[in-house]
Parts: sequence; structure tokens; C-alpha cells
Amino acid sequence: MYLLKSNFSRLFKIVILGLCPNCVNSSTFTNLFITKKKCEKCSENYSGYHLGDADTFFVILIVGIIIMGGVLYTEFNYKPDLVIQLIIWVPMTILLSLLIKRPVKSLFLYSAYEIKRSNEV
Ligand SMILES: [Zn+2]
Repeated sequence: MYLLKSNFSRLFKIVILGLCPNCVNSSTFTNLFITKKKCEKCSENYSGYHLGDADTFFVILIVGIIIMGGVLYTEFNYKPDLVIQLIIWVPMTILLSLLIKRPVKSLFLYSAYEIKRSNEV
């Protein structure tokens, strides 16, 4: 149980703060969304993790589900004008996408790191 709790807090820290999955000391990002080639502290090579567009796909999926749920809920319950819907949901879509892009990318980087580590053992 302790091991599970310890791993969860480590994973939470890596995903939320965007830290290196190997040493948990240095950030994996050069700026908001671009990942570094390798870790500055432990020299873990991130360029070997081929994430592709998986993080972008999941951001679009998650944001789409949340925003469409919100749009349908407000439409069926309050029936606001189209302009009001646009004023609420367009900035909400942009903001939510920017907020979850980095943690989702960190999560995929962490999962790629764990897959690579389990294949080495
Ligand atoms: Zn590192």
C-alpha cells in the first residue's frame, strides 16, 4: 500500500509539475509545451520516446467531451443566445486546452519512460 501511495505521489508530481520521470528534479519542458532533448540533471534522453500526436489527440478528446457536455447542458437547461454560448465556450475551450496540454504530455512521457524501463529489466 505504501509503495502504491509513494508511486502515485511521484507520478502526480511528475505529471503536474512536468518533471523528469527518471530523476524528478528537472523540468522536461524548454518552454510551455516543447520538451527538451534530454534531462539536464540525469542525462535521460527524451528524444527516444516517440510520442507522436498522442497527447494532442487526448487533449482534443478530453476538452471536446467537457465542452460539448457544458454546451448541451446550458442549451437544454437555460437556452441562451448563440452569442452567449460562443462568449462562454470558445475561451473556455482555449483555456482548458492550454491547462491540460502540459500534464497530458508529461503523462505520456512518463508512460513511455516506464515502458522503456520495463523493457530494459
Ligand atoms: Zn532527469
